[in-house]
Amino acid sequence: MRAIFLDRDGVLNRDGPGYVTRPDDLIMLPRAADAVALINRAGLAAVVVTNQSGVGRGIMPISALEAIHARLEQNLAQGGARLDLILSCVHAPWEGCGCRKPLPGMLETAAELLDLDLRQCTLIGDKPTDIECGATAGCATALVLSGLQRVCEPVRMPRMPDAVCIDVFDAVSWALERDRRLYGIPAAGRGADGSTAPDGIAEPR
Ligand SMILES: [Mg+2]
Ligand SMILES: [Zn+2]
Repeated sequence: MRAIFLDRDGVLNRDGPGYVTRPDDLIMLPRAADAVALINRAGLAAVVVTNQSGVGRGIMPISALEAIHARLEQNLAQGGARLDLILSCVHAPWEGCGCRKPLPGMLETAAELLDLDLRQCTLIGDKPTDIECGATAGCATALVLSGLQRVCEPVRMPRMPDAVCIDVFDAVSWALERDRRLYGIPAAGRGADGSTAPDGIAEPR
């Protein structure tokens, strides 16, 4: 099974100056639902991995985060899209957990739950810490410029992304095209178990 990992704020919904603490704060970005629908149609898993330290910092209760994610799924469903999994790190930075990006804990959890080969997955995020997380786990990475960061500044990137894209729709299109190049078949033609990669085609990494 393959997955495309999606950061939430700045990728699917608008990143504000403050935290998203209520469902009404959640403003979807243009083409976000279309991007997730592309993943769905390609037979890949769509997995959100999001740092939500507002919970650990006492800024919002976990019930608020659940309500926000229910709204996110509702908004996506209106656009004909669905998520396979949402993983959140709710810890404050000082708690020293293993799931807060840039650590790859959430990707490893998703790999166990969905039986993923992380080397065949892609992570899409809007921050250097997202790219570092994906690269550490062996995923391909795409930086989107739809968050607060409007340019890719190499000096701020501990790891460079494999692609820089204007938004999540462009990034998903890039990831699926890369998949098609690597495995020689249209992503849309692949079985849901992702098992049709022909032998003898090596990952170029
Ligand atoms: Mg973000
Ligand atoms: Zn955590």
